Amino acid sequence: MQMAASCRLPPLPTIREIIRLYNLRAQKQLSQNFLLDLRLTDKIIRQAGNLRNACVCEVGPGPGGLTRSILNAGAADLLVVEKDSRFIPGLQLISEAAPGRVRIVHGDVLTYGMDTAFPPHITKEWEDEPPDLHIIGNLPFSVSTPLIIKWLEEMSNRTGPFAFGRTRLTLTFQKEVAERLTASAGSRQRSRLSIMAQYLSTVNTCFTIPGRAFVPKPDVDVGVVHFTPLVKPRIQQPFKLVEKVVRNVFQFRRKHCHKGLEMLFPEAQRLRMTEELLRRADVDPTLRPADISVGQFRALTDAYGKLCRENTDLFSYEFREELRQKRHRHRQMKSERR
Ligand code: SAM
Repeated sequence: MQMAASCRLPPLPTIREIIRLYNLRAQKQLSQNFLLDLRLTDKIIRQAGNLRNACVCEVGPGPGGLTRSILNAGAADLLVVEKDSRFIPGLQLISEAAPGRVRIVHGDVLTYGMDTAFPPHITKEWEDEPPDLHIIGNLPFSVSTPLIIKWLEEMSNRTGPFAFGRTRLTLTFQKEVAERLTASAGSRQRSRLSIMAQYLSTVNTCFTIPGRAFVPKPDVDVGVVHFTPLVKPRIQQPFKLVEKVVRNVFQFRRKHCHKGLEMLFPEAQRLRMTEELLRRADVDPTLRPADISVGQFRALTDAYGKLCRENTDLFSYEFREELRQKRHRHRQMKSERR
């Protein structure tokens, strides 16, 4: 990794010229919306913090607007992961203008393994300051939501980009999703994503970008969201267990929370075990899902974890599967009677 002494890029064709030069028409089916205004990409990059001599992974660089801002901010080792091969020549042009500072991966960020993508010496202890490694991206909305769920799971397991420590993320989301990620208890946008993101990290919406800033213009505005993993997650249970409890609670978001929690248990013991869970967690069964705090979710997941240890098959129980089997048996009985 070289030190970016003089980090500003030499003059390059504009992003608009790159798009024209390589005939990079945005593909609607890939939800490609480009940022051409370098003042705006600089503003996004500033939200990540000080990038001087940092390692950065940019996901979905496309024609390279954010890429240029990352390099101009002084990143020393920039790994870009782009799925669409049409963008690779334009990215190579940027790479040649910043010798030794850019690595280009033509691949899918959803499957790209980041554990070994950066030198081990940048690794920091989890309890230390975050490492000098940042993940930055303006991804299509269809990718950013599954990707943040995957990264939150890796954050919880300290794998992927979090094998290097508390790696910070600066990502764009559809405004509505950005609002869900940061929503506090009691707000209309409070959802599964709010709990999953907030129990593991400090999440902030930095600013909103109007849809008209993108080419082509999407139908929605976009939020820039920054995540810093917490030293101590606010819930100390395995990710999958937290996800199961939170998913069940929010499946009936307008009902009292006991309704969703009931579905964690087989029909025969449903009411008794839900009562036991709520009693152990000391949570009011008539709370609505959106009103439950992260602390109350901690109490619920701790109580559910304990019940799972006492009842070995409980965690693998899925009420949809029980329902499917019940319907199957019912159909069989009906056809036997005919
Ligand atoms: N970062 C550029 C910008 O801000 O102008 C492009 C943004 S565009 C919304 C999203 C980019 O992500 C496109 O270049 C697209 O090809 C790329 N992309 C989409 N899915 C991807 C995936 N699974 N892995 C890597 N790149 C992906």
